[in-house]
Amino acid sequence: MSTATTKTADQPLEHLHDWEEFVEGQLYPEPNQKQKEDYRNYDSPARDTVREFYRLNHLNQTFDFVRQKESEFLPLRKREMTIYEAIEFLNTLVDDSDPDTDLDQLQHLLQTSEAIRRDGHEDWFVLTGFMHDLGKVLCLFGEPQWAVVGDTFPVGCQHSDKVVYPEFFALNPDSKNPQFNSRLGVYEEGCGLKNVHLSWGHDEYLYHVTKDYLPEPALYMIRYHSFYAWHRENEYDHLCDARDREMLSWVRKFNPYDLYSKCPVKPNWAELKPYYDNLFAKYLPAKIAF
Ligand code: FE
Ligand code: FE
Repeated sequence: MSTATTKTADQPLEHLHDWEEFVEGQLYPEPNQKQKEDYRNYDSPARDTVREFYRLNHLNQTFDFVRQKESEFLPLRKREMTIYEAIEFLNTLVDDSDPDTDLDQLQHLLQTSEAIRRDGHEDWFVLTGFMHDLGKVLCLFGEPQWAVVGDTFPVGCQHSDKVVYPEFFALNPDSKNPQFNSRLGVYEEGCGLKNVHLSWGHDEYLYHVTKDYLPEPALYMIRYHSFYAWHRENEYDHLCDARDREMLSWVRKFNPYDLYSKCPVKPNWAELKPYYDNLFAKYLPAKIAF
């Protein structure tokens, strides 16, 4: 029903979560788990759609594109929603033709947050797990998949070859622009990630939505959870400041819950709701600006 799950030339993924499945199954499989066959098989149609997704992402995520999206979305003037309205809105992303209801967005959020809770972490960490992908409502504002999901990377400076499918960066006009294609590009050594523009997507957007409500480690997790080149590949350290290096451990602590928390037994929302109601009331205002 939503454009986000209708495959077109501009929206190659059949489902938004095909990207996460690629990251979790192929790029960074759980330790002691085999890579999933699907993506190792060069004839797999899923593999082709992910590749096409990255081609579009690397081609179109330019410095100017990112600046334009920041000015369009970061004033948070799209709509005001309670957290329940946001979840309901996000859940309209589920494809009617997808029989696998385990994969709906609420389930991913709940499985992430419940895994964090089971490990005895603080309540704001649980809430972060619950909220971390709410920025995907961007899809419902008409944004193409390649501007919502995918791992993120700095724009305005040289692209790292540790980003997935680095060969597609040759298609990005910034890579031929001397203003943008040097090691530092428009940035200064050690300027801090807060001064670096990352490719546009659900991380940066949700960071701005939540920045007045959650503690700093939570905000780092939200803002950089898709920045795999940094938190998994140790790239772009020359742009980081001391704070970023300190907070990196939190981003790393969060990542396994995002990738490997799928559990065969669906959390029971009705049972869990009172706990989450308390959590929302403790940290969030009734209406949140998106
Ligand atoms: Fe995410
Ligand atoms: Fe996620």
